[in-house]
Amino acid sequence: MDAAIIKRTKKAVIFFTTRQFNYEIPLGLSHSSPILMASNLHELSNRFSFCYQPKQIHSKNIAVVTKETKRIYEADGLITNTPGLLLSIRTADCVPILMFDKNNRVVAAVHSGWRGTSKQIAHLCAKKLIDEFAADPKKLMVYIGPSIRDCCYEVSEKIAKRFNSYNQPSKIKNGKPFIDLAYINKEMLINTGVPEGNICIEKWCTGCEAQLFYSWRKRKDSGRMYAVIGIPEIRKTE
Ligand SMILES: [Zn+2]
Repeated sequence: MDAAIIKRTKKAVIFFTTRQFNYEIPLGLSHSSPILMASNLHELSNRFSFCYQPKQIHSKNIAVVTKETKRIYEADGLITNTPGLLLSIRTADCVPILMFDKNNRVVAAVHSGWRGTSKQIAHLCAKKLIDEFAADPKKLMVYIGPSIRDCCYEVSEKIAKRFNSYNQPSKIKNGKPFIDLAYINKEMLINTGVPEGNICIEKWCTGCEAQLFYSWRKRKDSGRMYAVIGIPEIRKTE
C-alpha cells in the first residue's frame, strides 16, 4: 500500500493517507511541502504553500480558511476557495469526506464520526458551499475515505436509533446493532441534492484492514490518517 490513496491531482488535489504516511500535520497553518513529500506527491510542492489542520471536537463547526487565517479553529469542517492551500482532517475510523466543485473552484473537508453524522455536518457543509460559495449540488463531487463499516462498527441501541430515518438502518449481529456511517453520510448528501453518481465511497473498512489503516475502535491505534484536499495554484509563468 502507498502512503496515500490519490483520487485526483489536476483541478483539485485529493488524497487519503494510509498507515505508510509518517508525518503529523500540525494544528493551524503549516508548510505543505512535508505533507506532499510524505504522500509521494513531491511534484505538487510548488503548487501549494500551506496546509491547514483544525482542532477536531466532533462538532458541526465549519470554518472558512484563507492564507491569512492565523487562529486554530475548533472545527470538523473546513472550506476554502484559496488556491495553494491544502485542507486536512484526521481520522481513525470516523468518516473523512472531501468535496469539490470544479466550476466554482471551492473545496471542503469534513470529519464525521457518529456525533458529526448525527449533527449532519456533511449536509451543513454542502449547504454552505451551495448557499455561500455558489456551488451547484449537481456538480459537487464527493469522496468518502476509508472508515469503519458495519462489519466492525458496533454501537449502542441509543446511538443506532439516531440513524433510524436513513434507508440503511443498523444491522443486528448477536443482538447488537452495527452501523455504516459512510453509507449514512452518502444518503444524507443525496438528500441535500448531490447525485448518487457523484459520491464515491472507498471500499476499505479501517477495522478489517489493520495493515493498511489505523483503527481506534479495533486496536486503540494512536495514529491517524489524513484526508487532504486543495486547489493547486497556477503560476503566472504558465
Ligand atoms: Zn470491518
